[in-house]
Amino acid sequence: MDPKGTTPPGTADHRFGLDELPEAVFVTDPDHVIVAANKAAAELLGYAPEELVGWPLDKIFPRQPHGMSLLMADGSGSTKFEIKMKTKTGKMVLMSFVAAPIGSGTGRRPLVYLGRDIRLRKLVEGEIKRARDYFRTVMQNSPSGICVTDVNRTIVMVNTVAEELTGYTSDEMVGRHVTFFYPDQGGPPLDFLALRKGGKVSREVDLKRKDGKTAPVLAFYRLVEDERGEKEMIIESYSDLTDRKRLDRLKNEFVFVAAHELRNPVTAIRLLLNMVFEDKRITLDPTLRGYLLKIQEADKRLLQLVDDLLEVSRSESGRLKIQVSPQDLTELVKTIFNEIKPNALTRDVSLRHIPLTPMPAAMADPSKLKEIIANLVTNGVKYNVAGGSVTIEHEVRGGMLLTHVADTGIGISEEDQERLFEKFWRSEDMAVRAQSGTGLGLFIVKELVERMGGTLDVTSKIGRGTTFTFTLPLAHGKAPLKPKMKGKK
Ligand code: ADP
Repeated sequence: MDPKGTTPPGTADHRFGLDELPEAVFVTDPDHVIVAANKAAAELLGYAPEELVGWPLDKIFPRQPHGMSLLMADGSGSTKFEIKMKTKTGKMVLMSFVAAPIGSGTGRRPLVYLGRDIRLRKLVEGEIKRARDYFRTVMQNSPSGICVTDVNRTIVMVNTVAEELTGYTSDEMVGRHVTFFYPDQGGPPLDFLALRKGGKVSREVDLKRKDGKTAPVLAFYRLVEDERGEKEMIIESYSDLTDRKRLDRLKNEFVFVAAHELRNPVTAIRLLLNMVFEDKRITLDPTLRGYLLKIQEADKRLLQLVDDLLEVSRSESGRLKIQVSPQDLTELVKTIFNEIKPNALTRDVSLRHIPLTPMPAAMADPSKLKEIIANLVTNGVKYNVAGGSVTIEHEVRGGMLLTHVADTGIGISEEDQERLFEKFWRSEDMAVRAQSGTGLGLFIVKELVERMGGTLDVTSKIGRGTTFTFTLPLAHGKAPLKPKMKGKK
Protein backbone atom coordinates (compact mmCIF):
# COMPACT_ATOMS: atom_id res chain seq x y z
CA MET A 1 0.00 0.00 0.00
CA ASP A 2 1.11 3.56 -0.61
CA PRO A 3 2.75 4.37 2.70
CA LYS A 4 1.78 8.06 2.52
CA GLY A 5 -1.81 7.27 1.56
CA THR A 6 -1.67 9.73 -1.32
CA THR A 7 -2.24 7.44 -4.31
CA PRO A 8 -5.88 7.52 -5.33
CA PRO A 9 -7.70 4.26 -4.56
CA GLY A 10 -8.71 1.98 -7.37
CA THR A 11 -5.22 1.71 -8.83
CA ALA A 12 -3.00 -1.37 -8.83
CA ASP A 13 -0.71 0.46 -6.38
CA HIS A 14 -3.20 -0.35 -3.64
CA ARG A 15 -2.20 -4.01 -3.96
CA PHE A 16 1.48 -3.21 -3.64
CA GLY A 17 2.96 -5.37 -0.88
CA LEU A 18 -0.43 -6.59 0.32
CA ASP A 19 0.05 -10.04 -1.16
CA GLU A 20 2.96 -10.62 1.19
CA LEU A 21 0.68 -10.31 4.23
CA PRO A 22 -0.72 -13.49 5.81
CA GLU A 23 -3.87 -11.56 6.83
CA ALA A 24 -6.82 -11.00 4.45
CA VAL A 25 -6.90 -7.36 3.29
CA PHE A 26 -9.74 -5.53 1.52
CA VAL A 27 -9.57 -1.87 0.48
CA THR A 28 -12.81 -0.01 -0.32
CA ASP A 29 -13.50 3.41 -1.74
CA PRO A 30 -15.56 5.90 0.31
CA ASP A 31 -18.72 4.31 -1.16
CA HIS A 32 -17.73 0.91 0.24
CA VAL A 33 -16.93 -0.65 -3.06
CA ILE A 34 -13.95 -3.00 -3.04
CA VAL A 35 -11.04 -1.50 -4.93
CA ALA A 36 -8.39 -4.04 -3.90
CA ALA A 37 -8.08 -7.39 -2.17
CA ASN A 38 -4.90 -9.27 -1.47
CA LYS A 39 -4.04 -12.90 -2.21
CA ALA A 40 -4.86 -14.11 1.32
CA ALA A 41 -8.33 -12.47 1.13
CA ALA A 42 -9.07 -13.97 -2.26
CA GLU A 43 -7.82 -17.45 -1.25
CA LEU A 44 -9.92 -17.30 1.88
CA LEU A 45 -13.11 -16.66 -0.06
CA GLY A 46 -12.20 -18.83 -3.05
CA TYR A 47 -12.09 -16.07 -5.70
CA ALA A 48 -9.31 -14.46 -7.75
CA PRO A 49 -8.30 -11.04 -6.33
CA GLU A 50 -9.52 -9.26 -9.47
CA GLU A 51 -12.95 -10.90 -9.21
CA LEU A 52 -13.57 -9.13 -5.90
CA VAL A 53 -12.74 -5.66 -7.22
CA GLY A 54 -15.91 -3.68 -7.91
CA TRP A 55 -18.05 -5.63 -5.46
CA PRO A 56 -20.03 -3.67 -2.91
CA LEU A 57 -18.80 -4.53 0.58
CA ASP A 58 -22.12 -5.99 1.72
CA LYS A 59 -21.59 -8.80 -0.81
CA ILE A 60 -18.79 -10.20 1.34
CA PHE A 61 -20.12 -9.10 4.74
CA PRO A 62 -23.56 -10.71 5.01
CA ARG A 63 -24.55 -8.34 7.83
CA GLN A 64 -23.29 -4.94 8.83
CA PRO A 65 -20.61 -5.48 11.44
CA HIS A 66 -20.92 -3.90 14.83
CA GLY A 67 -19.31 -0.40 14.99
CA MET A 68 -19.25 -0.01 11.23
CA SER A 69 -22.08 2.48 10.85
CA LEU A 70 -20.09 5.15 12.69
CA LEU A 71 -16.95 4.40 10.74
CA MET A 72 -18.88 4.51 7.50
CA ALA A 73 -20.62 7.78 8.33
CA ASP A 74 -17.63 9.96 9.11
CA GLY A 75 -14.61 7.75 8.52
CA SER A 76 -13.13 8.57 11.94
CA GLY A 77 -11.17 6.18 14.17
CA SER A 78 -11.07 2.43 13.62
CA THR A 79 -13.20 -0.50 14.67
CA LYS A 80 -12.78 -4.18 15.44
CA PHE A 81 -15.36 -6.90 14.83
CA GLU A 82 -15.83 -10.64 14.36
CA ILE A 83 -17.91 -11.82 11.45
CA LYS A 84 -18.81 -14.99 9.54
CA MET A 85 -18.05 -14.70 5.80
CA LYS A 86 -19.40 -16.95 3.08
CA THR A 87 -16.87 -18.49 0.66
CA LYS A 88 -17.44 -19.24 -3.00
CA THR A 89 -18.34 -22.84 -2.09
CA GLY A 90 -20.85 -21.67 0.52
CA LYS A 91 -18.66 -22.54 3.54
CA MET A 92 -18.76 -20.08 6.46
CA VAL A 93 -15.45 -18.73 7.85
CA LEU A 94 -15.21 -16.94 11.17
CA MET A 95 -12.99 -13.86 10.84
CA SER A 96 -11.71 -11.19 13.16
CA PHE A 97 -11.34 -7.75 11.43
CA VAL A 98 -9.80 -4.40 12.12
CA ALA A 99 -11.19 -1.67 9.85
CA ALA A 100 -9.70 1.81 9.57
CA PRO A 101 -9.90 4.79 7.24
CA ILE A 102 -6.90 5.50 4.98
CA GLY A 103 -5.18 8.85 5.13
CA SER A 104 -5.65 11.77 7.51
CA GLY A 105 -8.53 14.14 8.23
CA THR A 106 -12.20 13.39 8.80
CA GLY A 107 -15.11 12.76 6.47
CA ARG A 108 -15.64 10.02 3.96
CA ARG A 109 -12.41 8.25 3.06
CA PRO A 110 -11.28 4.95 1.61
CA LEU A 111 -11.20 2.14 4.19
CA VAL A 112 -8.90 -0.80 4.76
CA TYR A 113 -10.06 -4.09 6.32
CA LEU A 114 -7.47 -6.39 7.86
CA GLY A 115 -8.88 -9.82 8.72
CA ARG A 116 -7.62 -12.95 10.44
CA ASP A 117 -9.16 -16.42 10.29
CA ILE A 118 -9.99 -17.19 13.93
CA ARG A 119 -11.41 -20.69 13.48
CA LEU A 120 -8.22 -22.19 14.94
CA ARG A 121 -8.31 -19.86 17.93
CA LYS A 122 -11.98 -20.68 18.49
CA LEU A 123 -11.18 -24.37 18.15
CA VAL A 124 -8.41 -24.13 20.77
CA GLU A 125 -10.66 -22.10 23.04
CA GLY A 126 -13.34 -24.76 22.64
CA GLU A 127 -10.83 -27.49 23.50
CA ILE A 128 -9.68 -25.55 26.55
CA LYS A 129 -13.27 -25.13 27.68
CA ARG A 130 -13.96 -28.82 27.16
CA ALA A 131 -10.77 -29.76 29.08
CA ARG A 132 -11.76 -27.37 31.87
CA ASP A 133 -15.29 -28.82 32.03
CA TYR A 134 -13.84 -32.33 32.04
CA PHE A 135 -11.43 -31.43 34.84
CA ARG A 136 -14.29 -29.89 36.84
CA THR A 137 -16.44 -33.00 36.38
CA VAL A 138 -13.59 -35.32 37.44
CA MET A 139 -12.76 -33.03 40.35
CA GLN A 140 -16.34 -32.77 41.56
CA ASN A 141 -16.86 -36.54 41.35
CA SER A 142 -13.58 -37.45 43.03
CA PRO A 143 -13.99 -39.34 46.34
CA SER A 144 -11.07 -37.26 47.71
CA GLY A 145 -11.19 -33.64 48.74
CA ILE A 146 -9.48 -31.50 46.10
CA CYS A 147 -8.21 -27.98 46.51
CA VAL A 148 -6.45 -26.16 43.65
CA THR A 149 -4.18 -23.30 44.62
CA ASP A 150 -1.77 -20.98 42.83
CA VAL A 151 1.93 -21.15 43.69
CA ASN A 152 1.39 -18.70 46.54
CA ARG A 153 -1.11 -21.24 47.90
CA THR A 154 -4.12 -19.00 47.40
CA ILE A 155 -7.18 -21.18 46.80
CA VAL A 156 -8.51 -21.09 43.24
CA MET A 157 -11.12 -23.84 43.43
CA VAL A 158 -12.29 -26.66 45.69
CA ASN A 159 -14.60 -29.63 45.22
CA THR A 160 -17.57 -30.68 47.32
CA VAL A 161 -15.60 -33.29 49.31
CA ALA A 162 -13.14 -30.56 50.35
CA GLU A 163 -16.12 -28.46 51.42
CA GLU A 164 -17.46 -31.39 53.47
CA LEU A 165 -14.05 -32.12 55.03
CA THR A 166 -13.45 -28.53 56.13
CA GLY A 167 -17.05 -27.46 56.73
CA TYR A 168 -16.45 -24.30 54.64
CA THR A 169 -18.29 -23.50 51.40
CA SER A 170 -16.38 -22.96 48.18
CA ASP A 171 -17.19 -19.22 48.36
CA GLU A 172 -15.66 -19.04 51.84
CA MET A 173 -12.49 -20.77 50.66
CA VAL A 174 -11.70 -19.38 47.20
CA GLY A 175 -9.34 -16.41 47.36
CA ARG A 176 -8.01 -17.24 50.84
CA HIS A 177 -4.59 -18.61 51.68
CA VAL A 178 -4.77 -22.38 52.05
CA THR A 179 -3.19 -22.38 55.52
CA PHE A 180 -6.35 -20.97 57.06
CA PHE A 181 -7.61 -24.52 57.37
CA TYR A 182 -4.19 -26.00 58.20
CA PRO A 183 -3.47 -25.73 61.91
CA ASP A 184 0.26 -26.36 61.29
CA GLN A 185 0.92 -22.98 59.72
CA GLY A 186 4.39 -23.01 61.19
CA GLY A 187 5.09 -26.50 59.84
CA PRO A 188 7.69 -27.28 57.19
CA PRO A 189 7.00 -25.51 53.88
CA LEU A 190 5.98 -27.53 50.86
CA ASP A 191 8.94 -29.17 49.15
CA PHE A 192 8.72 -27.24 45.86
CA LEU A 193 11.98 -28.77 44.64
CA ALA A 194 10.49 -32.27 44.80
CA LEU A 195 7.24 -31.00 43.27
CA ARG A 196 9.07 -29.36 40.35
CA LYS A 197 10.90 -32.63 39.69
CA GLY A 198 7.44 -34.11 39.16
CA GLY A 199 7.55 -35.98 42.45
CA LYS A 200 4.51 -36.68 44.57
CA VAL A 201 4.72 -34.98 47.92
CA SER A 202 2.45 -36.24 50.66
CA ARG A 203 2.00 -35.78 54.37
CA GLU A 204 -0.56 -36.41 57.07
CA VAL A 205 -2.26 -33.24 58.23
CA ASP A 206 -5.13 -32.39 60.51
CA LEU A 207 -7.42 -30.01 58.67
CA LYS A 208 -8.91 -27.33 60.89
CA ARG A 209 -12.66 -27.44 60.34
CA LYS A 210 -14.98 -24.47 60.53
CA ASP A 211 -16.72 -26.00 63.58
CA GLY A 212 -13.39 -26.05 65.47
CA LYS A 213 -12.91 -29.83 65.13
CA THR A 214 -10.05 -31.39 63.17
CA ALA A 215 -10.18 -33.80 60.23
CA PRO A 216 -7.13 -36.09 59.83
CA VAL A 217 -6.24 -36.45 56.16
CA LEU A 218 -3.45 -37.74 53.97
CA ALA A 219 -2.67 -34.80 51.69
CA PHE A 220 -1.05 -35.29 48.26
CA TYR A 221 0.46 -32.36 46.38
CA ARG A 222 1.09 -32.09 42.65
CA LEU A 223 2.47 -29.15 40.69
CA VAL A 224 0.78 -28.71 37.30
CA GLU A 225 0.56 -26.01 34.65
CA ASP A 226 -2.77 -24.29 34.13
CA GLU A 227 -4.74 -25.06 30.96
CA ARG A 228 -2.90 -22.36 28.97
CA GLY A 229 0.50 -23.59 30.15
CA GLU A 230 1.18 -20.14 31.58
CA LYS A 231 0.93 -20.47 35.35
CA GLU A 232 1.90 -23.17 37.84
CA MET A 233 -0.88 -24.47 40.05
CA ILE A 234 -0.83 -26.86 42.98
CA ILE A 235 -3.43 -29.58 43.21
CA GLU A 236 -3.89 -30.78 46.77
CA SER A 237 -5.99 -33.87 47.34
CA TYR A 238 -7.10 -35.07 50.74
CA SER A 239 -8.01 -38.64 51.70
CA ASP A 240 -10.05 -38.76 54.87
CA LEU A 241 -8.19 -40.76 57.54
CA THR A 242 -10.87 -40.59 60.25
CA ASP A 243 -11.97 -44.22 59.78
CA ARG A 244 -8.42 -45.51 59.39
CA LYS A 245 -7.37 -43.69 62.59
CA ARG A 246 -10.33 -45.20 64.45
CA LEU A 247 -9.45 -48.70 63.24
CA ASP A 248 -5.79 -48.09 64.14
CA ARG A 249 -6.86 -47.11 67.64
CA LEU A 250 -8.99 -50.26 67.97
CA LYS A 251 -6.20 -52.50 66.64
CA ASN A 252 -3.74 -50.83 68.94
CA GLU A 253 -6.04 -51.26 71.92
CA PHE A 254 -6.45 -54.93 71.06
CA VAL A 255 -2.68 -55.52 70.75
CA PHE A 256 -2.07 -53.72 74.02
CA VAL A 257 -4.67 -55.70 75.97
CA ALA A 258 -3.60 -59.03 74.43
CA ALA A 259 0.11 -58.38 75.09
CA HIS A 260 -0.64 -57.17 78.61
CA GLU A 261 -2.65 -60.31 79.42
CA LEU A 262 0.00 -62.57 77.85
CA ARG A 263 2.76 -61.08 79.95
CA ASN A 264 1.53 -62.66 83.20
CA PRO A 265 1.57 -66.34 82.14
CA VAL A 266 4.82 -65.86 80.22
CA THR A 267 6.51 -64.35 83.29
CA ALA A 268 5.05 -67.10 85.49
CA ILE A 269 6.64 -69.77 83.26
CA ARG A 270 10.01 -68.01 83.53
CA LEU A 271 9.81 -67.80 87.33
CA LEU A 272 8.72 -71.43 87.68
CA LEU A 273 11.50 -72.65 85.40
CA ASN A 274 14.05 -70.66 87.41
CA MET A 275 12.70 -72.29 90.60
CA VAL A 276 13.03 -75.76 89.07
CA PHE A 277 16.62 -75.08 88.00
CA GLU A 278 17.60 -73.58 91.34
CA ASP A 279 15.83 -76.08 93.65
CA LYS A 280 18.55 -78.36 95.03
CA ARG A 281 15.94 -80.96 95.96
CA ILE A 282 15.05 -81.57 92.34
CA THR A 283 17.33 -83.82 90.31
CA LEU A 284 16.85 -83.42 86.59
CA ASP A 285 17.94 -86.14 84.22
CA PRO A 286 19.87 -84.73 81.19
CA THR A 287 17.02 -85.28 78.72
CA LEU A 288 14.45 -83.49 80.89
CA ARG A 289 16.98 -80.70 81.58
CA GLY A 290 17.51 -80.30 77.83
CA TYR A 291 13.75 -79.97 77.24
CA LEU A 292 13.35 -77.46 80.06
CA LEU A 293 16.25 -75.35 78.71
CA LYS A 294 14.51 -75.27 75.33
CA ILE A 295 11.26 -74.18 77.03
CA GLN A 296 13.19 -71.48 78.88
CA GLU A 297 14.70 -70.22 75.60
CA ALA A 298 11.28 -70.14 73.88
CA ASP A 299 9.78 -68.36 76.89
CA LYS A 300 12.53 -65.74 76.74
CA ARG A 301 11.71 -65.05 73.09
CA LEU A 302 8.01 -64.89 73.87
CA LEU A 303 8.63 -62.40 76.67
CA GLN A 304 10.73 -60.26 74.33
CA LEU A 305 7.93 -60.29 71.73
CA VAL A 306 5.28 -59.40 74.33
CA ASP A 307 7.44 -56.56 75.70
CA ASP A 308 8.14 -55.21 72.20
CA LEU A 309 4.44 -55.32 71.30
CA LEU A 310 3.58 -53.50 74.52
CA GLU A 311 6.17 -50.82 73.79
CA VAL A 312 4.97 -50.35 70.18
CA SER A 313 1.32 -50.05 71.18
CA ARG A 314 2.25 -47.68 74.02
CA SER A 315 4.13 -45.50 71.58
CA GLU A 316 1.37 -45.53 68.96
CA SER A 317 -1.40 -44.75 71.39
CA GLY A 318 0.54 -41.90 72.97
CA ARG A 319 0.74 -43.86 76.24
CA LEU A 320 4.52 -43.84 76.19
CA LYS A 321 5.66 -41.83 79.19
CA ILE A 322 9.08 -40.26 78.88
CA GLN A 323 10.70 -38.29 81.68
CA VAL A 324 14.09 -36.87 80.88
CA SER A 325 16.83 -35.92 83.32
CA PRO A 326 20.64 -35.62 83.02
CA GLN A 327 22.13 -39.09 82.49
CA ASP A 328 25.65 -40.47 82.70
CA LEU A 329 26.01 -43.06 79.95
CA THR A 330 29.21 -44.54 81.40
CA GLU A 331 27.51 -46.34 84.29
CA LEU A 332 24.59 -47.34 82.15
CA VAL A 333 26.79 -48.92 79.47
CA LYS A 334 28.68 -50.82 82.18
CA THR A 335 25.40 -52.31 83.50
CA ILE A 336 24.24 -53.23 80.00
CA PHE A 337 27.58 -54.85 79.10
CA ASN A 338 27.40 -56.94 82.29
CA GLU A 339 23.98 -58.24 81.26
CA ILE A 340 24.98 -58.97 77.66
CA LYS A 341 28.51 -60.29 78.33
CA PRO A 342 27.55 -63.99 78.81
CA ASN A 343 25.85 -64.03 75.39
CA ALA A 344 28.73 -62.09 73.80
CA LEU A 345 31.28 -64.53 75.27
CA THR A 346 29.38 -67.51 73.87
CA ARG A 347 29.52 -65.88 70.42
CA ASP A 348 33.15 -64.79 70.83
CA VAL A 349 32.27 -61.10 70.41
CA SER A 350 34.12 -58.53 72.55
CA LEU A 351 32.46 -55.40 73.99
CA ARG A 352 34.28 -52.07 74.32
CA HIS A 353 33.24 -48.65 75.61
CA ILE A 354 35.34 -45.52 75.04
CA PRO A 355 33.76 -42.71 77.09
CA LEU A 356 34.70 -39.06 76.60
CA THR A 357 36.86 -37.34 79.21
CA PRO A 358 34.98 -35.86 80.94
CA MET A 359 31.79 -37.58 79.90
CA PRO A 360 29.03 -34.97 79.40
CA ALA A 361 25.54 -35.73 80.66
CA ALA A 362 22.71 -36.15 78.16
CA MET A 363 19.01 -35.50 78.70
CA ALA A 364 17.22 -38.85 78.62
CA ASP A 365 14.73 -41.11 80.34
CA PRO A 366 16.99 -43.64 82.15
CA SER A 367 14.93 -46.78 81.50
CA LYS A 368 14.32 -45.85 77.83
CA LEU A 369 17.99 -45.01 77.33
CA LYS A 370 18.88 -48.43 78.70
CA GLU A 371 16.43 -50.00 76.28
CA ILE A 372 18.00 -48.10 73.35
CA ILE A 373 21.60 -49.02 74.12
CA ALA A 374 20.75 -52.63 75.10
CA ASN A 375 18.87 -53.12 71.84
CA LEU A 376 21.69 -51.76 69.67
CA VAL A 377 24.41 -53.70 71.50
CA THR A 378 22.34 -56.93 71.42
CA ASN A 379 21.92 -56.53 67.66
CA GLY A 380 25.66 -55.78 67.32
CA VAL A 381 26.39 -59.09 69.06
CA LYS A 382 23.61 -61.06 67.34
CA TYR A 383 24.52 -60.03 63.81
CA ASN A 384 28.28 -60.37 64.30
CA VAL A 385 30.92 -62.99 63.50
CA ALA A 386 33.14 -65.02 65.81
CA GLY A 387 36.12 -62.89 66.86
CA GLY A 388 34.17 -59.66 66.14
CA SER A 389 33.52 -56.70 68.40
CA VAL A 390 30.97 -54.06 69.40
CA THR A 391 32.39 -50.64 70.32
CA ILE A 392 30.59 -47.66 71.81
CA GLU A 393 32.11 -44.21 71.27
CA HIS A 394 30.83 -40.65 71.63
CA GLU A 395 31.15 -37.18 70.16
CA VAL A 396 29.75 -33.78 71.06
CA ARG A 397 28.33 -31.76 68.15
CA GLY A 398 25.86 -28.89 67.93
CA GLY A 399 24.57 -29.19 71.48
CA MET A 400 24.01 -32.95 71.11
CA LEU A 401 25.78 -36.00 72.44
CA LEU A 402 26.35 -38.48 69.61
CA THR A 403 26.70 -42.14 70.55
CA HIS A 404 28.08 -44.55 67.94
CA VAL A 405 27.43 -48.26 68.41
CA ALA A 406 29.76 -49.91 65.88
CA ASP A 407 30.01 -53.62 65.15
CA THR A 408 32.27 -55.66 62.90
CA GLY A 409 29.43 -57.96 61.84
CA ILE A 410 27.58 -59.04 58.71
CA GLY A 411 26.52 -55.50 57.65
CA ILE A 412 23.30 -54.33 56.00
CA SER A 413 22.82 -53.81 52.25
CA GLU A 414 21.84 -50.33 51.00
CA GLU A 415 18.48 -51.70 49.87
CA ASP A 416 17.81 -53.18 53.34
CA GLN A 417 18.87 -49.96 55.07
CA GLU A 418 15.81 -48.25 53.54
CA ARG A 419 13.46 -50.58 55.42
CA LEU A 420 15.50 -51.02 58.57
CA PHE A 421 13.28 -48.98 60.86
CA GLU A 422 9.96 -50.41 59.69
CA LYS A 423 7.83 -52.37 62.12
CA PHE A 424 8.36 -56.18 61.89
CA TRP A 425 10.96 -55.84 59.13
CA ARG A 426 13.80 -58.39 59.21
CA SER A 427 16.39 -59.02 56.51
CA GLU A 428 15.99 -62.10 54.31
CA ASP A 429 19.71 -62.82 54.86
CA MET A 430 20.29 -66.38 56.09
CA ALA A 431 22.61 -65.13 58.84
CA VAL A 432 19.78 -62.90 60.15
CA ARG A 433 17.10 -65.58 59.87
CA ALA A 434 19.34 -67.93 61.88
CA GLN A 435 18.87 -65.57 64.86
CA SER A 436 15.62 -65.15 66.74
CA GLY A 437 14.04 -61.71 66.63
CA THR A 438 10.79 -59.78 66.28
CA GLY A 439 11.78 -56.99 63.87
CA LEU A 440 10.43 -54.48 66.39
CA GLY A 441 13.65 -53.49 68.19
CA LEU A 442 14.91 -50.79 65.81
CA PHE A 443 11.42 -49.37 65.30
CA ILE A 444 11.19 -48.92 69.08
CA VAL A 445 14.74 -47.52 69.37
CA LYS A 446 14.03 -44.89 66.68
CA GLU A 447 10.75 -43.94 68.30
CA LEU A 448 12.34 -43.59 71.75
CA VAL A 449 15.33 -41.58 70.50
CA GLU A 450 13.06 -39.20 68.57
CA ARG A 451 10.72 -38.80 71.53
CA MET A 452 13.74 -37.66 73.55
CA GLY A 453 14.62 -35.03 70.93
CA GLY A 454 17.32 -37.00 69.08
CA THR A 455 17.86 -38.83 65.80
CA LEU A 456 18.93 -42.35 64.83
CA ASP A 457 21.09 -43.04 61.77
CA VAL A 458 22.90 -45.96 60.28
CA THR A 459 25.96 -46.52 58.12
CA SER A 460 26.87 -50.00 57.03
CA LYS A 461 28.85 -52.09 54.57
CA ILE A 462 28.03 -55.69 53.79
CA GLY A 463 30.59 -57.99 55.37
CA ARG A 464 32.36 -55.09 57.12
CA GLY A 465 29.98 -54.07 59.89
CA THR A 466 27.36 -51.56 60.94
CA THR A 467 27.39 -48.36 62.98
CA PHE A 468 24.20 -47.01 64.52
CA THR A 469 24.45 -43.41 65.73
CA PHE A 470 21.88 -41.88 68.03
CA THR A 471 21.90 -38.34 69.33
CA LEU A 472 20.55 -36.87 72.56
CA PRO A 473 20.42 -33.25 73.73
CA LEU A 474 23.25 -32.36 76.09
CA ALA A 475 22.22 -31.50 79.63
CA HIS A 476 23.29 -27.85 79.18
CA GLY A 477 24.47 -26.02 82.26
CA LYS A 478 24.50 -29.25 84.24
CA ALA A 479 27.82 -30.54 85.48
CA PRO A 480 28.78 -33.84 83.90
CA LEU A 481 27.83 -36.74 86.09
CA LYS A 482 30.68 -38.74 87.56
CA PRO A 483 33.44 -37.90 85.03
CA LYS A 484 35.33 -41.03 84.00
CA MET A 485 38.80 -41.56 82.65
CA LYS A 486 39.08 -42.81 79.09
CA GLY A 487 39.59 -46.52 79.23
CA LYS A 488 38.84 -49.95 77.96
CA LYS A 489 35.96 -51.88 79.43
P1 ADP B 1 15.35 -58.12 65.35
O1 ADP B 1 16.80 -58.01 65.69
O2 ADP B 1 14.51 -58.56 66.48
O3 ADP B 1 15.11 -58.88 64.11
P2 ADP B 1 15.43 -55.25 64.96
O4 ADP B 1 14.32 -54.31 64.77
O5 ADP B 1 16.33 -55.01 66.11
O6 ADP B 1 14.77 -56.68 65.04
O7 ADP B 1 16.28 -55.30 63.66
C1 ADP B 1 15.60 -55.43 62.41
C2 ADP B 1 16.52 -56.06 61.39
O8 ADP B 1 17.60 -55.17 61.09
C3 ADP B 1 17.21 -57.31 61.83
O9 ADP B 1 16.36 -58.44 61.68
C4 ADP B 1 18.41 -57.35 60.90
O10 ADP B 1 18.01 -57.81 59.62
C5 ADP B 1 18.78 -55.89 60.79
N1 ADP B 1 19.81 -55.47 61.76
C6 ADP B 1 19.62 -54.78 62.91
N2 ADP B 1 20.79 -54.51 63.52
C7 ADP B 1 21.75 -55.02 62.74
C8 ADP B 1 23.20 -55.07 62.83
N3 ADP B 1 23.85 -54.53 63.85
N4 ADP B 1 23.86 -55.69 61.83
C9 ADP B 1 23.20 -56.23 60.79
N5 ADP B 1 21.84 -56.22 60.66
C10 ADP B 1 21.13 -55.64 61.61
